[in-house]
Amino acid sequence: MQKIDDQRIKYIFRMLLDTYGAQGWWPAFTSFEIAVGAILVQNTMWRNVKVSIKNLERSGLLEPYRMYIASPQKIATAIKPSGFPRLKTDRLRNFLKFFEKFSFDFEEMKKLDTYSLRKSLLSVNGIGKETADSLLLYIFGRPVLIVDAYTERFFYRLGYSFSLSKESEKLNFVQTLGSKPDVLGEFHALIVRHSKVHCKVKPLCGECPLSDICGFGGVTHE
Ligand code: SF4
Repeated sequence: MQKIDDQRIKYIFRMLLDTYGAQGWWPAFTSFEIAVGAILVQNTMWRNVKVSIKNLERSGLLEPYRMYIASPQKIATAIKPSGFPRLKTDRLRNFLKFFEKFSFDFEEMKKLDTYSLRKSLLSVNGIGKETADSLLLYIFGRPVLIVDAYTERFFYRLGYSFSLSKESEKLNFVQTLGSKPDVLGEFHALIVRHSKVHCKVKPLCGECPLSDICGFGGVTHE
């Protein structure tokens, strides 16, 4: 099992970037759209979220106060393509109640340090670690590592022994990448892309750009 190794991690990042190019995440026009997208993408595919975001825009709800005063039914109808419309409507409304305390202004939230901001976000019913870290990274530009199922599978297969659920080990990883939010954001996007193209549930190791450094790639997986 590997420990975190600066050179190897940087090599992986560079190889993924060379292979797939910059991913341009997060694909949104406003911070509020990022927040809405991060909540809607839970347990669904991004293409479904895109349809919901378009519906919200058409209904005039892609603005915090307008969504705040809208009826739950109207929100649920717009976000239906993302699945679980009632549950996700509740989650959006929970976030909006929280956001209202900051006068619906992300600049006000930015005044909190990363620890306090993360703790506050996690106090919102429906915002878990992955969603909170997505907001911290892509809205507030804080240096955090987003750990989702793709990330865990990818690093496990590459032979890493660190537990990404441990905050101290996540911090080590962040520091290895120079604590740069733009690099961390790009790395996350690249891992998601790689996990969809090569490192799938049944991986396509033969065509993988990392096969020369990945022990998992040498094993037959049926
Ligand atoms: S060699 Fe296979 S397991 Fe390793 S990163 Fe590539 S696709 Fe994933």
